[in-house]
Amino acid sequence: MDLTLTPPQQELRDRAGRYVVDHLQPLEAQFERDGRLPDDAVADVKRVAVDLRLAGGPLPEAVGGQGWSALEQVLVHEQLGQATGGLWSFIPGAYNALVHCTPEQRTRYLEPSLRGERFGAYAITEPGQGSDVRTLASTAIYDAPEREYVLNGEKWFVTGPPETDFMIFHCHLLEGGERLPTLFLVDYDTPGVQLVHDPQYTHTFADRHPQFRLADVRVPVDAVLGGVGAADELTNEWFVEERLHIGARCTGAMERLLTLAVGYATERVQFGQRIYDFQGVSFPLADSAADAAAARLLTREAAALMDSGADPKVVHAKASLAKLFASEAAWRCADRVVQVFGGRGYMREFPAERYLRELRVDRIWEGTSEIQRLVIARALEKRGVDAVVG
Ligand SMILES: Cc1cc2nc3c(=O)[nH]c(=O)nc-3n(C[C@H](O)[C@H](O)[C@H](O)COP(=O)(O)OP(=O)(O)OC[C@H]3O[C@@H](n4cnc5c(N)ncnc54)[C@H](O)[C@@H]3O)c2cc1C
Repeated sequence: MDLTLTPPQQELRDRAGRYVVDHLQPLEAQFERDGRLPDDAVADVKRVAVDLRLAGGPLPEAVGGQGWSALEQVLVHEQLGQATGGLWSFIPGAYNALVHCTPEQRTRYLEPSLRGERFGAYAITEPGQGSDVRTLASTAIYDAPEREYVLNGEKWFVTGPPETDFMIFHCHLLEGGERLPTLFLVDYDTPGVQLVHDPQYTHTFADRHPQFRLADVRVPVDAVLGGVGAADELTNEWFVEERLHIGARCTGAMERLLTLAVGYATERVQFGQRIYDFQGVSFPLADSAADAAAARLLTREAAALMDSGADPKVVHAKASLAKLFASEAAWRCADRVVQVFGGRGYMREFPAERYLRELRVDRIWEGTSEIQRLVIARALEKRGVDAVVG
């Protein structure tokens, strides 16, 4: 597979890289210290992203996005991974499921999301249902006389920036003895939507991950997103795409960590020598370089395969392979780089410390490492070793 970048792809990657260096990295330390950014700084981050045509990248141009291919999304996320604090999440955008919006939903949710006026969350996980998303307990019941659905359920880790104001609620529509997996668009200010708890997490992130309870929440008949019964398919599409994004961001994080570590280790002198000249320092960085290069190849290859229209099951396995390897490698890399920085590696004002906390979740969200292994193992058996490894 030829992974040579075209000139427009290189230009996109460079544009995203300049945005990260000029507009996100300068805010990192302040964000880590205060846990938030001034409103004008957030507005600036959004505005510049829109001006630089970085908003809504994966969505088709026909609905106001940039129409990036999977490989182009990966190129951009490699750059976004070079910012800590998840500051890229302020960039206006929308979950790919919103491409299925009706014209009315488009006006209410998709278009304002692409302008940075609204933010949506994707609520799948529940207190009792995590990795096993096929057994969700949240329900919808149709109230025919009122032409409304009645939603009930509890959702955890409902991720989005603090101003997030709607969620894509994944539940089962109970109809004629059947449980039809269905997505609903739910505004946070709908009666019965209750924010129960907004916990602190290991990372200091632009996104919050609160817990919501929906108790007899009534939504109109046109709150269904993508059709009754379509939720599992749409959510699966999101998992595959986001696993590629995670692989790419982890790759970008490793690149930045290595750049910082090599810069520091070639300057820092102990025992009359550059610490880089101690193999105990430089060899772990060499191992990290191998990790980063392999993660980049795996992620770009999976994306290019998706763009080529390959068997979706094989693409799914390849995306899992990329996410599994890149997230585990990035964690190893952050740990090694913290060690290279010595005591400075333990200070929150240095990126290595922040990465060590932030990269941990990449082995958990969008399917844990164990779930990625399940996907890969299944594909090895059903599609064959050559399809997965070749
Ligand atoms: C910061 C953060 C943000 C998140 N954002 C979102 C979000 O926006 N929307 C959303 O819906 N969810 C979100 N999640 C939830 C996340 O996707 C889940 O935490 C994850 O899928 C694991 O589910 P769980 O926590 O219930 O763990 P469990 O499923 O209970 O798993 C616990 C442990 O058991 C292991 N395990 C489970 N099943 C198997 C198996 N078959 N074989 C081997 N091992 C197994 C797991 O790998 C894990 O180690 C977020 C989580 C975090 C931490």
